[in-house]
Amino acid sequence: MMKTIISVKNLVKNYGSFSAVKGISFDVYEGEIFGLLGPNGAGKSTTLEIMETLRDKTSGEVNICGYNLDKDPDNIKKLIGVQLQSSGYYPGLTLVELIHLFAGLYNQDVDPKALLKMVNLVDKANNKYKEMSGGQKQRFSIATTLINKPKIIFLDEPTTGLDPQARRSLWELIKSIRSQGTTVIITTHYMDEAEQLCDRIAIMDEGKIISLDSPDKMIDDLVNSGFERPKQVKAANLEDVFIHLTGKEIREE
Ligand code: ADP
Repeated sequence: MMKTIISVKNLVKNYGSFSAVKGISFDVYEGEIFGLLGPNGAGKSTTLEIMETLRDKTSGEVNICGYNLDKDPDNIKKLIGVQLQSSGYYPGLTLVELIHLFAGLYNQDVDPKALLKMVNLVDKANNKYKEMSGGQKQRFSIATTLINKPKIIFLDEPTTGLDPQARRSLWELIKSIRSQGTTVIITTHYMDEAEQLCDRIAIMDEGKIISLDSPDKMIDDLVNSGFERPKQVKAANLEDVFIHLTGKEIREE
């Protein structure tokens, strides 16, 4: 039996007279990678930020790790890890300095080298944030979500703009974080990524959840409904060609 770690019931968010989230309900299970997908403007970030305690909701009920969002936001904050936008980092500080800074804010004792090892950045420990490549910055920002040893981490489009090698390296990192028992909520516009990574996904559109299931089940349902691709699918795609030609190892180092 899966244990529910996040429960969202009839969540509504209005911005003035505009309704961005229109009464959505879903559960996230402990230890899963849960994807929130949907076109721009669907309401994903709003939903994510409400769960992260960063944005007020209009109505509905959210429970995270047994705490009610209205009554116990402080306890929820202690149990979740949230990714900052890259503008949240002081560019002139080194990775170790930034980790000490965040650890101080969270009142946590952390071993920066151990944390950087997890995300394969030990070699860059004393480099400045601004000297990192895009993939390294993303790996570092995932590391910072782990500082307070959270039960759940929220990742908002963590692989946007990365090359195929760096994306794959991030997928491995996210899987390894999950394998240590952390629940992961992720948004992405890459369907191959959602298919690779997510145990279950919720597809949002215009403030509503229009489908919620495993990627496999969603694909099977579509195929069983008689759907056919306009173009015959080949055994490999262009990304496979790219990886085959250029190799799997990351280039940024
Ligand atoms: P997504 O992350 O799926 O792209 P968002 O949650 O960012 O969607 O936005 C959902 C809708 O709410 C969009 O139409 C957006 O313009 C609107 N919206 C988001 N934030 C605000 C805000 N602070 N004030 C007014 N409208 C907003």
